[in-house]
Amino acid sequence: MTETFSGNRGLQLEEPLIFEMGSDGRCGVDYPQPEAPLEDRLGGLRRAAAIGLPNLAEPQVVRHYTRLSQKNYGIDSGFYPLGSCTMKHNPRLSEKMARLPGLADLHPFQPQATVQGALEVIDTLAHWLKELTGMPAVAMSPAAGAHGEWCGMMAIRAAHEDKGQGHRRRVLVPESAHGTNPATAAMCGFSVDPVPANERGRVDLAALKAKLGPDVAAVMLTNPNTCGLFEDQILEIAEAVHAAGAYFYCDGANYNAIVGRVKPADLGIDAMHINLHKTFSTPHGGGGPGAGPTVLSAALAPYAPVPYVVHDGKGFRLVEQAEGDARPFGRVKGFHGQFGVFIRALAYVLSMGGDGLRQSATDAVLNANYLMARLKDVLTPSFDGPCMHECLFDDRFLKDSGISTLDFAKALIDEGFHPMTMYFPLVVHGALLMEPTESESKETLDQFVRVVRGLAEKAKSGNAAEDFKAAPRFTPRRRLDETLAARTPVLKWKRGGNS
Ligand SMILES: *Cc1c(COP(=O)(O)O)cnc(C)c1O
Repeated sequence: MTETFSGNRGLQLEEPLIFEMGSDGRCGVDYPQPEAPLEDRLGGLRRAAAIGLPNLAEPQVVRHYTRLSQKNYGIDSGFYPLGSCTMKHNPRLSEKMARLPGLADLHPFQPQATVQGALEVIDTLAHWLKELTGMPAVAMSPAAGAHGEWCGMMAIRAAHEDKGQGHRRRVLVPESAHGTNPATAAMCGFSVDPVPANERGRVDLAALKAKLGPDVAAVMLTNPNTCGLFEDQILEIAEAVHAAGAYFYCDGANYNAIVGRVKPADLGIDAMHINLHKTFSTPHGGGGPGAGPTVLSAALAPYAPVPYVVHDGKGFRLVEQAEGDARPFGRVKGFHGQFGVFIRALAYVLSMGGDGLRQSATDAVLNANYLMARLKDVLTPSFDGPCMHECLFDDRFLKDSGISTLDFAKALIDEGFHPMTMYFPLVVHGALLMEPTESESKETLDQFVRVVRGLAEKAKSGNAAEDFKAAPRFTPRRRLDETLAARTPVLKWKRGGNS
């Protein structure tokens, strides 16, 4: 494969930083000369050196930003099978609702009397989240899944302290958990005690029971878990956890697989965050946007953070200080949550309806099982039997090929597919976790299957390692040193170069 002379390939162009383009003195507009000499008006504060802004003509600016926008891969560009992330189609109706001027142009400092409709949006969404989960309370303000975990675990901590159980400082977390779970427990001042998985990819119940004791504050469990499997002993787990005086936190990031079919309250859960940006559309990434409301059981409800919305005859009102029996553990965020994501989630819930949400969970599980069924003879499924909304493979199918999970994922990019989640969960070797979501068509899934099968067969042919190691070939950048980028981030442009 020859490199190009210019770095441009096909009609994909190399894109320098805007500061590296243009030339001094060029400008997209003509400014009139100022009437009075500037010295008089700036009181001696006139800039001594050039301001350093890029000097470009309008068409250069337009092309620069258009090209940048085309480099952004998103759910609107193609299939996005990132397991655990639930990247699903964002209905245009939800976007349209979020852009209504009466909602989009609000200011968080507006008097509450002028934002009654917005407070009603928060209250109505809270109502449906409680209805769907069967839980009596919900804290709406957490801004993401991990933030919702933190909110739930802080409520658990407050409840223990309130009951003179503040010595409970150990939290049990399965080995397959998302990294945010142990991180959350640690941030809340708990120590993390890992629970092993059994050969069926579920929590080892006997091992979990053996670890329960008077110093255990909570167990944090994901259901369906990150292996894409339903924790079928969840009722026994909940019972054992409660008998030991601990609370049951459930990571609800995978709620998309069961919404409308199972009520988390019926599973004995005390607290669970809901990633609105997974279960209720809003594809996310690059740091936002998201929202992680946390539903709470009756035992934890009094400790929910402020603010929350109430309706009291005179209208909707935000409660900012503890009222009545409430003992809020504090506040988790400025203002009242990610309002733009609330609108999208509410529009999604109302347009789908109860039957539609149930159908979406069913179709998500069907699509994942379709992928599993069509790929299981060429890849190596980590666990037997059907899966929930995502299917998990490990790297045994690459044994002795000299090709790693990373190489395989990079080769997918050359074939026009965003890779699946790699190397997570940690309980299997070289994991490949695929989540198709309910909104993908059979044609898309079939095309993906053809590509994955083709690559798997090529990988097993015995002499393809070099090819795989060279992938991706057709992207503007190839393999990046992500560790270096994370350790030595270059975030600022300097005239004349950064090195
Ligand atoms: C996405 C995810 C989280 C964290 O959610 P964020 O919104 O990214 O903070 C936690 N647990 C699981 C299983 C997830 O998939």
